Amino acid sequence: MIVDENKAVGIDYTLYLSDGTVADTSEGDEPLYFLCGHGNIVPGLEKALMGMKVDEKKTVEVEPEDAYGQFDEEALQEVPLTAFPEDTKLEEGLQLALMDEDDNYIPAVVHEILEKTVIMDLNHPLAGEKLKFDIKIVDIREATAEELEHGHIHGAGGHKH
Ligand code: ZN
Repeated sequence: MIVDENKAVGIDYTLYLSDGTVADTSEGDEPLYFLCGHGNIVPGLEKALMGMKVDEKKTVEVEPEDAYGQFDEEALQEVPLTAFPEDTKLEEGLQLALMDEDDNYIPAVVHEILEKTVIMDLNHPLAGEKLKFDIKIVDIREATAEELEHGHIHGAGGHKH
């Protein structure tokens, strides 16, 4: 079996930023499982894994536009200070969750604190970054009908619900 659309794929990975620092790794943890072809992982990485077999290894470099996108000035949002709970210790770099109109939580980072407002950065923390992944394919199986319907993997290494 090879990595292909609608397969459940398990990978061991280490993610490096362009300065060589490790941003994330599955080492010492369960492999990362994703449902191929459903946008579970960044497009540039998924494309590079297509056709690979279990135990195969690869180093994949992904440009920002095929990863988390370029840094977007439009994703800087000004929020009134009064919108934060009083006990919030606001400081630059603090990660918070904002709620959108549909009550979904969006991760955001305090970008700048002004007199009456706070500039929140809604960009993905890895926006604008060129990423390098060291990948090893550890498992490939058929996805279940339920997983295909949900668009993600259940069970070991997958979505818990
Ligand atoms: Zn599900």
